[in-house]
Amino acid sequence: MHEVGVLKHALETVEAFAQANNIAQIAKVVLEVGELTGIIPTMFDTFYPILTEDWPLFKGTQLEVIIRPGRGLCSGCRNMYNVFKHEGACPACKSRDKTIVSGMELLIKEIVIESGDEHGGENLRDQEECV
Ligand SMILES: [Zn+2]
Repeated sequence: MHEVGVLKHALETVEAFAQANNIAQIAKVVLEVGELTGIIPTMFDTFYPILTEDWPLFKGTQLEVIIRPGRGLCSGCRNMYNVFKHEGACPACKSRDKTIVSGMELLIKEIVIESGDEHGGENLRDQEECV
């Protein structure tokens, strides 16, 4: 399924970022998903625990998905409207000719880093040695 690949890729990006910044444990990943991407956000919720089950960095972490509205600028009357809600046609002049302004993106909005020492030192060192 499309969502699995997209989510996996996003998490790989997060992992690369975490490694580059010496982040050993995260608490939450926040993704921003445009509603014109064709991604069904609930699919992310479904696949996240499955995908991260054997992925130490993400195991037991949370995923938050923020929906970014799909907005288009009408080429006919310069009206800005919600493309998703109006099914691609300008509500003012009915034109389908438009420029998409937002809603096509998938962004890693935030990585919340684990605070506190519950997952501290030794545990993490052990995991690193296993890799
Ligand atoms: Zn229009």
